[in-house]
Amino acid sequence: RDRLQGVYYAATAHDEDQPVHLKVRDTSICIERCTVEYANPCTRFCPAAVYEIVEDAAGKRLQINAANCVHCKTCDIKDPYEIIDWVTPEGGSGPNYQNL
Ligand code: SF4
Repeated sequence: RDRLQGVYYAATAHDEDQPVHLKVRDTSICIERCTVEYANPCTRFCPAAVYEIVEDAAGKRLQINAANCVHCKTCDIKDPYEIIDWVTPEGGSGPNYQNL
């Protein structure tokens, strides 16, 4: 069970310069519930292929390719379990959303 909860970030130079700006609080939900109930919509609605369900000898897991993110914030709004925490990246490179 522990191995299903692992989250793996694809490390790139982009990520080394700033904190990871999106986190999934409990990736076991992605594998154990969301796959069955919603077929992992994040893998479809994200325009930048940030979220991938991958499977290897250790089992299925969510892979987060954070460096691909184009900061559209869709995942923060559309995640059915609201377990994705997305924050505007430091350094001003992300969008500055306001409540209207
Ligand atoms: Fe994908 Fe947009 Fe979420 Fe970035 S903010 S991970 S591009 S859905």
